Amino acid sequence: MIPYAPERILVQEESWQDSVTLEILERLPGVEVRTVKSREVRFPEPSQGSPAPWEDKNTLFLLRHPGSFLKRCQGSGADTCCNYYVLSCTWNCHLDCSYCVLQSYLGGRALVVGTNFQDLMREVREKLGSSPHRIFRIGTGELADSLALDPATGFSRRLVPFFARLSNGFLELKTKSDCVANLEGLDHGGHTVVSWSVNSKRICRTEEEKAPTLEERLAAALQCQKWGYRLGFHFDPLIYYDGWEDDYREAVGEIFRSINPERVAWLSLGALRFPPHLIGHVKKRFPESKIPYGEFVPGHHGKMRYFRPIREAMYRKMISWIREAAPGLTVYLCMESFAVWEGSFRIQYPGPSFTPDRLDAAIIKG
Ligand code: SF4
Repeated sequence: MIPYAPERILVQEESWQDSVTLEILERLPGVEVRTVKSREVRFPEPSQGSPAPWEDKNTLFLLRHPGSFLKRCQGSGADTCCNYYVLSCTWNCHLDCSYCVLQSYLGGRALVVGTNFQDLMREVREKLGSSPHRIFRIGTGELADSLALDPATGFSRRLVPFFARLSNGFLELKTKSDCVANLEGLDHGGHTVVSWSVNSKRICRTEEEKAPTLEERLAAALQCQKWGYRLGFHFDPLIYYDGWEDDYREAVGEIFRSINPERVAWLSLGALRFPPHLIGHVKKRFPESKIPYGEFVPGHHGKMRYFRPIREAMYRKMISWIREAAPGLTVYLCMESFAVWEGSFRIQYPGPSFTPDRLDAAIIKG
């Protein structure tokens, strides 16, 4: 993967006091660096469009995040929730997948890194300390790719050992990248799952053009498995097209030809869903994309999605191929209703296939 190389770095004046800032600048030598006043670094609202210099992915902002780093995953209103938390320390992504919701969600395309890492760690410690008897699964891949910026930020080298010392905290690093070099040799204590968002080769090629190929992602996953990490996989978004069955079946087979399923903590499935206004962005920015021309209906969360029978048929087939290749693997659906769970797994919900506790158990046993 081509590493992220900004043309300019804008540093909020207070961020100069943070070691994160100095480390990032050391890793990105030769880039123009400018100090900016605090009032210039407020994230614009999506409705404001992208005022300069926010409009440009070649801009990297280093700033002190004033709000909360840790939030509950919204689950998009689905009536099944897996009790997941999201931890945001970077925002935006340069991989430019055509369907990426970030292009309409955040007001601006610049990449942003929070430099007040001490505040982040304090917040996590306080939250986990307030409920010492429950397990927290926390992922950093919600508003950015967890590892695509890691060669510049080195955040994994801070986060992984930090979570290793939290008795009730488990970190998920979710990525499409192959930037795993920083993970080598870290004391992860079994508290980090490294997971990949994967897709059929055709979708990787056409809708995730700047991301590594499926083979490259799997090579990185295999490397992490050798370093003792547990892995996760997310077929998300599943995209419906003529010939999807052969392509996705092949992708499932390819994963488990190299990866040991016993070291996989979980695998999730999520059919394509997006806010209605995303379509305009996709048509404008990715004229070759076929995504805007599918048939969608509004879901209970206001997002557009495939008709329920199509989703359930996709899930059922995916589950059967996964069961063939990796019997016993924990599989769950992302942002779906009880009814879709029942139709897809052919179970009465709540059934033996899934509960949030089972996900927690899957990770703890590792
Ligand atoms: S890798 Fe993830 S965060 Fe990055 S552009 Fe693709 S979908 Fe968005």
